This record gives sequence, structure tokens and C-alpha cells, in this order.
Amino acid sequence: MKRVTIVGGGLAGLTLGLQLRQRGVPVLLHEAGTYPRHRVCGEYLSGRAISIIESLGLRPGLDDLGAVESSDVLLSLGSSVLSRRTLPRPALCLSRYEFDRFLVQELTKAGGDIQTGHRVPAQPAEGTVLATGRQPSATQNGWRWFGLKAHARNVDLEAGLEMHLSTRGYIGLCRIEKNQVNVCGLFRARSPVSDLATQWKDWLGGDPDSLLRQRICHADWDESSFSSIAALSLSPQRASAQAGLRIGDALTMIPPVTGNGMSMAIEGADRAARPLVDWSSNKLGWDSVAETVASCLDSAFAPRLRHARWLQHAMFDPMARSVVWNLSRMFPDFPSLLFRLTR
Ligand SMILES: Cc1cc2nc3c(=O)[nH]c(=O)nc-3n(C[C@H](O)[C@H](O)[C@H](O)COP(=O)(O)OP(=O)(O)OC[C@H]3O[C@@H](n4cnc5c(N)ncnc54)[C@H](O)[C@@H]3O)c2cc1C
Repeated sequence: MKRVTIVGGGLAGLTLGLQLRQRGVPVLLHEAGTYPRHRVCGEYLSGRAISIIESLGLRPGLDDLGAVESSDVLLSLGSSVLSRRTLPRPALCLSRYEFDRFLVQELTKAGGDIQTGHRVPAQPAEGTVLATGRQPSATQNGWRWFGLKAHARNVDLEAGLEMHLSTRGYIGLCRIEKNQVNVCGLFRARSPVSDLATQWKDWLGGDPDSLLRQRICHADWDESSFSSIAALSLSPQRASAQAGLRIGDALTMIPPVTGNGMSMAIEGADRAARPLVDWSSNKLGWDSVAETVASCLDSAFAPRLRHARWLQHAMFDPMARSVVWNLSRMFPDFPSLLFRLTR
């Protein structure tokens, strides 16, 4: 069988590598960084990916690492709180530090060749899958988007996931392994923010008098888990309009408020695996593989990207945000509807 080269060892690349190895395809994966490492992520895995994880036989390993099931959400806007709501399907919360490390172990055990510490050219080519993460964009409509995250102990939550809306962005809190809480936010600014390395607790701490501020006033931060990411591009992209076979954020990013980016990375890997096996065993040409995967991913992701786009807009536009807030207050099932529409 022919070898598949994967550029990028985040969730998309690692899951694809595993899927291919489980079907006997030789895999070479290049990762610019090293493992284990902390990544900016809400660490809230929800949606279809959970059944893919289960079908790959990975669920017991994640449970052993202490992954926390989360089935309810609490929304807060400043000091106002919407009562806890149960979501249609439980999510799984585990740090990316452990999750990615676990996938690397599994892929290595399955015979995948993982080369770390070198950035290789991310060029479309026959037999190469681009799983290189976000396509950086310095600004979008004049805004600079950036994400921050850190783990903390001594933070009490009233729901598995708490989403706090602040004047500068939104911050999600969820319980993860070892009694830690992941605190992760998406923010925007008109001009470059240069002091994040020293000011991140302030950004993640929310507005004065907010519920978020109360939640984390006694937080015991794990400083080594702090990470940041900038130049985020949140406009939806279509696979069929881009060169090369792309999965995960390398194809498109869904706004983090949905908590569905990791699922899309894993679903993309899942949907690309079968055509790649056919290419590897000379049953399908590369152009057909790339076209099949692109049209499959475009039709699978278009509806949720559309809904996510206006939801993201609503998070930052005061009028739209108050509409979403009031609908959620009047109709208890409204958050569940948003959850379903973005999956
Ligand atoms: C603030 C924020 C909060 C989020 N919260 C959630 C959440 O709660 N739930 C959720 O499901 N999703 C969330 N997401 C989204 C989620 O983190 C991503 O969708 C997911 O990590 C994408 O995985 P990926 O494998 O495509 O990319 P990545 O995880 O970014 O991996 C890409 C890898 O490719 C490597 N790479 C890049 N270029 C090269 C090269 N040339 N050579 C070699 N290696 C290369 C990089 O080093 C990187 O390790 C969030 C995102 C942000 C920004």
C-alpha cells in the first residue's frame, strides 16, 4: 500500500493517522512542535466526534485519563445568570495536553511514523494531507482575534460548562481531569495587545462584579498551562475552493463558542480515511480522493458553519446578544436548539 503523509499533528492529523493505521495504511506524520504541550482550547469535546472516538476504541483510554462527562451548561452575562440547562448530548472534557499525548501514544503503538520538531512545507501534493491548523489572518474587518487559556484549581462550577459573556469576549469554564478547571476565552481588539504574557489573568478574569470574577477570585492557577493564540480567522471556508486535501482548522475554523472545532477535526479525519485507503491501495486516483473528501466535508459542515456564524456575531453585537439572551431566558430549550444547530 502507498504511504500517506500528514502535515500537522493536532487532533485532525493524529486521528487520521490512527484511522489509516487501523486499516493497514503506512503513515508518516510531521509535527512542527513537540509533545506533550498545552494548546488554546476550551477542551470541551462534543458532537459526533464522541462516537468516532468510541468506534476507534479510544474511549476507555480517555476515561482512564480522567476525562469528565459534562451534560449541562450555565450562561452568564456580567452578573446576570441563566439557570442551568441540560444539553441534548453529554460532552467529554479533557486537557489537550493529555488528549494529544494519548493519541500520539496510540498512533505510535499502531505503527505510525511521527516526526516532531520540524516544520515541513505545507504544499498540496499527491499523497499529502494538510492538517496544519488555522490559516492565520492578522485582522478581520479591522478586529484582531485572539484566544487565551489556562488551568486552575479551587474554582467551583455549578455546571459542567459555564459560558461567561464579557465586554471583551466570551470565556468558557469546564471541569477537566484531576479536579482542574479549564478557563479559555476568545477576545478581540482593534490594536495589537502586547502585554498578554503578564495580563492574561486579567483578560480571563471577566468584568468587575461579574459572576466570572467571583468564580475565579480564589483560583490557584497552573501557570505552566497558560497558552495563547492570535491571528485567528473565523470566516467559514469551503474545501472545494482550496488547493490540496485539508482537514481540521486547515480547512475551516468554526467559532469556538460552538465547542465543535475538535469534533470537526475528528469528523474530517473520519470522512477522509476511507477514500485515502482506496488511494493507498490503488483503487482511486488522487484527484478523485481530493474531490470526494472536499464535497463530503463541504456538505457535512456547511449548515453548522452558517448557524455558527450568526451565533458568533451575536456574542459580540450588544443588540443581537440581548436577543439571544432573552430568547434563552424565555424559552428554556433555546440553548439546546443552538447546540443542535451547530453540530
Ligand atoms: C479560544 C478557542 C477555544 C476553543 N474551544 C474549543 C472547544 O471547547 N471545543 C472544541 O471542540 N473546539 C474548540 N476550539 C477549536 C479547536 O481547538 C480546534 O478546532 C482544533 O484544535 C483543530 O485541530 P487541528 O488538528 O485542525 O489543528 P491544531 O490543533 O491547530 O493542529 C495543527 C498542528 O499542525 C502543526 N503544523 C502546522 N504547520 C505545520 C508544518 N508546516 N509542518 C509541521 N507541522 C505543522 C502545528 O504545530 C499544530 O500542532 C477552540 C479554539 C479556540 C481558538
